[in-house]
Amino acid sequence: MNDLYEIYEKCGISRQVYDYGEAVLSDLAERFTQFDRTAEYNQLKVLSAMSKCKVSESCFVPSTGYGYNDRGRETLEKVYATVFGTEDALVRPQITCGTHALSTALSAILRPGDEMLSISGKPYDTLEEVIGIRPCTGSLAEYGITYSQVDLLGDGSFDYEGIRKAVKDNTKLVTIQRSKGYQTRPSLSVDAIKDAIGYVKGINSDIVIMVDNCYGEFVETKEPSDYGADMVVGSLIKNPGGGLAPTGGYICGTKECIDKCAYRLTSPGLGREVGATLDINRSYYQGLFLAPTVTCAALKGAVFAANIYEKLGFDVIPNGSESRHDIIQSVTLGTPEAVKAFCNGIQSASPVDSYVTAEPWDMPGYDSEVIMAAGAFISGSSIELSADAPMRPPYAVYFQGGLTWYHAKTGILRSLQALVDEDIVQL
Ligand SMILES: *Cc1c(COP(=O)(O)O)cnc(C)c1O
Repeated sequence: MNDLYEIYEKCGISRQVYDYGEAVLSDLAERFTQFDRTAEYNQLKVLSAMSKCKVSESCFVPSTGYGYNDRGRETLEKVYATVFGTEDALVRPQITCGTHALSTALSAILRPGDEMLSISGKPYDTLEEVIGIRPCTGSLAEYGITYSQVDLLGDGSFDYEGIRKAVKDNTKLVTIQRSKGYQTRPSLSVDAIKDAIGYVKGINSDIVIMVDNCYGEFVETKEPSDYGADMVVGSLIKNPGGGLAPTGGYICGTKECIDKCAYRLTSPGLGREVGATLDINRSYYQGLFLAPTVTCAALKGAVFAANIYEKLGFDVIPNGSESRHDIIQSVTLGTPEAVKAFCNGIQSASPVDSYVTAEPWDMPGYDSEVIMAAGAFISGSSIELSADAPMRPPYAVYFQGGLTWYHAKTGILRSLQALVDEDIVQL
């Protein structure tokens, strides 16, 4: 394979780094086959949903103004509901991001005096302001909605005893976050979430269960909504957008929940009937169609990175051999210099903005500076190859995405090259 190294050399990767990568890769064939099989299953799941919902060319016609009778939007929402095994769905560009989708779902269900309970510990950073854990204008706390939390146990499993004690008469909604976000706990498997859903429904079947599904879609063959979650919520510039959706979010769930979400998202009285899609629907369909294989590419990249950095002695979560429940890979690099080198290695391997240097900044919604490496076609898209890290100890970098496995591989090799070039790592 001399030919192949030739092109890597042109991309700034030394022989030593390349050979190191190939040696790591030679042990990963079986894992990759597993990912391919999951992608195959999910590809057929998406394909059959599109066929069942009779997706046609007319679904790609843009709507403007109020967006009444937007057939493309209505059919897309049926496709999402079918793929996620729910009664209904909202999938729209008016949902601006994952945080907005989650915030909409929470404020749709909760009323003053209600309590929401997180049973997977601290929620994702941006939700702290939505809930009011960190005070913020317009938070749920301002509306008299209280919050409580049960942390996961030391081994990352649910604290069932703690959950039983925390559920009160006014507990209206339980939230579960599938992916670890910017934490170092393990991500949750769909099986583990399934058990927790059963347990909570056993205490009180009226409690609405919401799963923050960000980064988890299509990683397994089942979704939490296949096991009784009332709502699964996520971002279209992550897995389900397949890299093509230019913006948006989704909520899939029971008819009752989705109706409430629609009235919250647009306006009481209008609900889901309004919302022009302009010229965006085609990218939603096509992105969803590609999402299973894109997610598979990202998973291969994550496992490759885990094995590379684990062998070099860094703490990696998940470790090189454990099963995957989302596309995020964290690598604890220990110093700000190493974090910057890693991120800029990824940056330099990007198709867009490869020549810029990533610097930490005060990103809205986060409580410490964050460095983000991304040279994406869609701004901020983290299904595209990207790395980000809050600039605080333990200086862990969170790495995700890759629209193709080969791009993810190159990005990881470039990150390693940067660490080698700065003498942070010796091969
Ligand atoms: C990304 C993410 C969010 C927020 O999504 P944005 O689109 O960045 O607003 C929420 N929860 C988790 C677990 C995430 O990974």
